[in-house]
Amino acid sequence: MSINIAFDREHIWHPYTSMIDPLPVYPVVAAERCELILENGQRLVDGTASWWSAVHGYNHPILNNAVTTQLSKMAHVMFGGITHPPAVELCQRLLQMVPQNLTKVFLADSGSIAVEVAIKMALQYWMESATPEKQKLISLRKGYHGDTFATMAVCDPVDGMHDMFSSLLPQHYFLPAPQRRFDGEFIESDITPLEELLVEHHSEVAALIVEPIVQGYGGMRFYHPEFLRRARALCDQYQVLLICDEIATGFGRTGKLFACEHADIAPDIMCVGKALSAGYITLAATLCTDEVARGISLSAAGGLMHGPTFMANPLACAVANASLQLIEQGHWQQKVAMIEAQLKQELAPCRFSSQVKDVRVLGAIGVLEMHSKVDVAALQQQFVELGVWIRPFNNLIYIMPPFIISPDELSKLTAAMRIVTSS
Ligand code: PMP
Repeated sequence: MSINIAFDREHIWHPYTSMIDPLPVYPVVAAERCELILENGQRLVDGTASWWSAVHGYNHPILNNAVTTQLSKMAHVMFGGITHPPAVELCQRLLQMVPQNLTKVFLADSGSIAVEVAIKMALQYWMESATPEKQKLISLRKGYHGDTFATMAVCDPVDGMHDMFSSLLPQHYFLPAPQRRFDGEFIESDITPLEELLVEHHSEVAALIVEPIVQGYGGMRFYHPEFLRRARALCDQYQVLLICDEIATGFGRTGKLFACEHADIAPDIMCVGKALSAGYITLAATLCTDEVARGISLSAAGGLMHGPTFMANPLACAVANASLQLIEQGHWQQKVAMIEAQLKQELAPCRFSSQVKDVRVLGAIGVLEMHSKVDVAALQQQFVELGVWIRPFNNLIYIMPPFIISPDELSKLTAAMRIVTSS
């Protein structure tokens, strides 16, 4: 039976689209390794890893097996008053991977919820302390942390995705986005605004939240690791917690297991998601230190006041375990380094296009920043005709493919990017 596109168009919301004049959707009936297979049989090389998640590719035998094996035992059970092997094994594995100061894990059901929990942890931590007035957050312009209300309040309030809600959200402090590029030279003026803000307002600030190194949906910007090092030091100096949102960057995407490793720092609270469950079943996690967990447990509520129905879903935990086992084997390091080298080489000619403002590559992320906003529907169609799946937004054409992509498949993606920007 063919997919009823007319019904879809009339009745189903897709991400960030209008219900009156929705963007076209393409019917995908299967996915294998690094390819999406359309209903008409056409195969598209995937440049998105389904929004950073499918790092090992699609229909992976080991990941499939993890889900089906768990399914034959138990699809789900509540996590209140119960625990189960996939959750315990996953949390053990996660704690082996993350910076050592992080010792406690909260399993959440999506990235936005993991950030909500991180914010809640930070606020609850200070409530019963000697400084309960520490209830504000600091975030960066160009930052993006999710679509729910607490997370929208830490997204760029002016030209972020959620600026229309700004007046309805809790008011936090925003710093200018760091200007110095990842591979450029650091300048003091990048960190001065944080220092000045903390001097004046540290007594009311609970936490600084950042996407380490890569600011994703606020502009696909790669900033200098020194900013993060200095931010960590300032947070320590002024008793402010540091939350690193590694939801997009975690598990190898930037060439390090976690992006905070580029700066050799460890956060007090860290969020992971997306690649955690390899694009199979929604799962995320918020990790924190003993100290943060202790503060929360001393608060009036006596515990962290969060507990979603699908918390620690066993199927999601089982596939996450299998995904992290693949990561532990370490092949991603060489793969990501090869992808980075190839992206640098094959996207370099785009610099000569009059439409392209900047070309940047970090790990397995390749970005073309255009001078103006792109026509998403037209470009998407052109990409599909070229046999690739790339989803641009605003003025950005970017890819973050599965790590298992072959050099030929990657060349197909970069060739398509060169073609659409060639005029
Ligand atoms: N933080 C960052 C850095 C993200 O990139 C995203 C997802 N785009 C989120 C949070 C929210 O994750 P989710 O879409 O799973 O809610």
